[in-house]
Amino acid sequence: MSDHHVRMQDNEIFTEDHQAFRRTVRKFADGLAPHSEAWDEAGIFPREVFTQAAELGLLGIRVDPQWGGSGLDWWYTTAYAEALVHTRNAGVNMALMVQSDMATPIISEIGSDEVKREFLEPAVKGEKIAALGVSEPGGGSDVAAIRTTARRDGDDFIINGQKLWITNGTRADFITLAVRTGDDGYGGISLLVFPTDTKGFHVGKKLKKIGNKASDTAELFFEDCRVPRRYLLGEENMGFYHIMTNFQGERLIAAVSCVAGMELAVRDAIAYGDDRKAFGKPISKFQVWRHKLVEHMTAIEAARRLTYFAVDKFNKNPANATREITMAKLFAGDLAQRVIYDCQQMYGGFGYVTEYAVARAFTDIRLITIGGGTSEVMKEILVKMEGL
Ligand SMILES: Cc1cc2nc3c(=O)[nH]c(=O)nc-3n(C[C@H](O)[C@H](O)[C@H](O)COP(=O)(O)OP(=O)(O)OC[C@H]3O[C@@H](n4cnc5c(N)ncnc54)[C@H](O)[C@@H]3O)c2cc1C
Repeated sequence: MSDHHVRMQDNEIFTEDHQAFRRTVRKFADGLAPHSEAWDEAGIFPREVFTQAAELGLLGIRVDPQWGGSGLDWWYTTAYAEALVHTRNAGVNMALMVQSDMATPIISEIGSDEVKREFLEPAVKGEKIAALGVSEPGGGSDVAAIRTTARRDGDDFIINGQKLWITNGTRADFITLAVRTGDDGYGGISLLVFPTDTKGFHVGKKLKKIGNKASDTAELFFEDCRVPRRYLLGEENMGFYHIMTNFQGERLIAAVSCVAGMELAVRDAIAYGDDRKAFGKPISKFQVWRHKLVEHMTAIEAARRLTYFAVDKFNKNPANATREITMAKLFAGDLAQRVIYDCQQMYGGFGYVTEYAVARAFTDIRLITIGGGTSEVMKEILVKMEGL
């Protein structure tokens, strides 16, 4: 399979600066890859990985240099997400990206300078780990239904409630937290920064997952937790809109990572199939596999074009790419289920043992149609946008 990164370099999208950045990320990812299986088994990975990523500037790609970031654009984030798949560990990648691209962008965009100094800057440096706390046991798709409350008390908020499915949840130093400050429905939700050393906060179960095992996913409890009102992000009761905007970046990165992950899995499968023989010839020379592989390459190329179109639109105007981002996540996510399944099948029994990255990818990839908005939710968004 030809190297699309080289092709795209020729294709005006990625400049030499992007490519140099991509090589840096790739070297970092290759360095982590040998630990991938062990970290999945351990259900966690070393905290230093965050600081190593920070030293390379990976945790603040689009953050203003005033707060330690690089002030770059979404094409750099795209190069980052694509090269990071070489860790061959979706859990590590998700944990890093929750930090860099899901929990902190809201602070970057609407946090006060004081909050940025206290939380964003150390997060960009990898000194503090960040989590995003939106989903609750009562529902993840229906964000407007969240029930964790923040009641005003003088200059503070008193927080009570529970969050579920929180990535980086067992060791986050702070959480970008969605809380109910007003009436029922989407109009009563606010966002604030919640330091996890606050009295009354505790981590419940660390969830046992079928994939993305190296990332910790936790349930969190808040009992009369007092946080200062100055930790509020943006305006009170406007949180829903910021969560929805933030979702766009999250879904875009999910699509980019998914496309790059599929491509890597296909390349790995070809290398495996060239090497492994049955009935006197390499597996990859059986026509059934060659046809499947080129079908998948075609679909991956289509997914990449749609995703790049979404990146381009989002880069130019973040308010104008929801349709394409939604389509990209939906399309890439559903496609990946078939692609990874076939790649795994090509390995025979070896595809069933976790020593092989494809076996881990098989369970990891299930998350793409669930996390950050399910495929059904993507379809509902499109139904509304298309006026059906
Ligand atoms: C490993 C992992 C990590 C996660 N990390 C985080 C995190 O860091 N922070 C965070 O806030 N959340 C996180 N999540 C939560 C994730 O975003 C939710 O799981 C997801 O949004 C789905 O919500 P739910 O699980 O409550 O499912 P539900 O909302 O209960 O949905 C159940 C089913 O109903 C379908 N459904 C729901 N609404 C509709 C509809 N209108 N039409 C048709 N079908 C519908 C869904 O598509 C799904 O198939 C994580 C989840 C996982 C599994």
